[in-house]
Amino acid sequence: MNTSTLIAPPAIVRRAEQHDTRAIQAQDSAHFIHPFTDHGDLATRGARVMTRAENIYVWDSEGHRILDAMSGLWCVNAGYGRKELADAAYQQLMTLPYYNSFFQTTNVPAVQLASKLASLAPVVGGRRFEHVFFSSSGSESNDTNVRLVRRYWDLLGQPQRKVIISRHNAYHGSTMAGASLGGMSGMHAQGDLPIPDIVHIEQPYHFENAQPGESAADFGRRAAGWLEAKILEVGPERVAAFIAEPVQGAGGVIIPPETYWPEIQRIVDQYGILLISDEVICAFGRLGHWFAYEKFGYRPDLVTFAKGVTSGYVPLGGVMVGDRVAQVLIEQGGEFNHGYTYSGHPVACAVALANLELMEREDLPGKVKNDTGPYLAQRFAELNEHPLVGVAETCGLVAGLVLVKDKATGETFDPDLGVGMKCRAHCFKNGLIMRAVGDRMIIAPPLVITRAQIDELMGLIRQCLDATLVQLRAEGLHS
Ligand code: PMP
Repeated sequence: MNTSTLIAPPAIVRRAEQHDTRAIQAQDSAHFIHPFTDHGDLATRGARVMTRAENIYVWDSEGHRILDAMSGLWCVNAGYGRKELADAAYQQLMTLPYYNSFFQTTNVPAVQLASKLASLAPVVGGRRFEHVFFSSSGSESNDTNVRLVRRYWDLLGQPQRKVIISRHNAYHGSTMAGASLGGMSGMHAQGDLPIPDIVHIEQPYHFENAQPGESAADFGRRAAGWLEAKILEVGPERVAAFIAEPVQGAGGVIIPPETYWPEIQRIVDQYGILLISDEVICAFGRLGHWFAYEKFGYRPDLVTFAKGVTSGYVPLGGVMVGDRVAQVLIEQGGEFNHGYTYSGHPVACAVALANLELMEREDLPGKVKNDTGPYLAQRFAELNEHPLVGVAETCGLVAGLVLVKDKATGETFDPDLGVGMKCRAHCFKNGLIMRAVGDRMIIAPPLVITRAQIDELMGLIRQCLDATLVQLRAEGLHS
């Protein structure tokens, strides 16, 4: 795609004139409660109004073009403005806009998508994924996982196996079960979470949790060992499953050392517990594979997906159900008393099918694996020389860096200073969407990004880091 044709200032100015930003902001704060937002605070400043998008860029109501290095919320894998996804939705809306899949009925796009997903899921160590349960989001899918896991152990006559082990700083959604599975202390603090029988271990974050001089490989094995310690603490006969993101996303792009996943696999095998791979961010090409467990070589029993399956164009999520669980559920299960109005929604499934076909045709996972992923790795690593950067790392097309006060010692800033948010403000000002998680700055650009656009992205990141450094020095916060 020729991106230069996408940047058309006269058209943008005309569109911008059509929006009364102030009026939209006033209505927004009067009526729209945003997710994860301080509503009172937002009302004083006014939300940025996004009005259109194309390829890897979004435009706001003032006509600013912004490079969306977060793919919306890690979801617009195929990039914005893909007409065939809109066509697929339109065709399906005009044919069968809705029908449920309760009461022994089904619909063609849902059947086709389930078989397509089964064919895309790699077989690792002889384990297959022939079955899919559909939902509309990552959170719902993880709620489904809790139901599936408990049902599985009940059917096997081990109802005492209820405990699911997760990790601190993980993100698994915002419903009661999703937020409980997640390890976000701020979420747990509101509403008496986690719900019972969900416990957490520490994350494999080498920069923060390794001992002085401990190699990444040694740390990875030690971090996996925390799972075994927790299983023994809880009592192996009570543990139902371990859930984890292949690379922890919303927690700040925490990339585990290579030794981590093999040791996790050994431990779940030894104790016979189920392994849930939450691939809401990491699947569908994000790490250079259709599913991320293939990249790390582990063998999950359940895989959560959402986001990239439709490139975010319409809501869809689900769980890939591996043979181990499916056989018990189907052969011994009878009715599974669980489901959603929109499980297997025909329009969402039709868009997902068109999206997966597009990704296959353009070989987006292969492009990430062999071309843009390695190129981003090389360019992002250059940031390790920047005086503000503690460590900068990538995995496929996710990347994260940590802002530090003292590069030599790795000393971090006082979290109350909000240095990450200061950096994020410079990004916005300079036409770049980069996310701040504490003082970690993270990106996950659309998978259609080209090498030239990666150069543009890196130029912007450097410019924003430089501007942040100037500000911090002026404020006496950096030498
Ligand atoms: N799991 C993971 C790994 C996620 O990153 C997210 C969303 N960021 C979710 C679950 C929840 O998905 P949703 O917001 O669609 O409910």
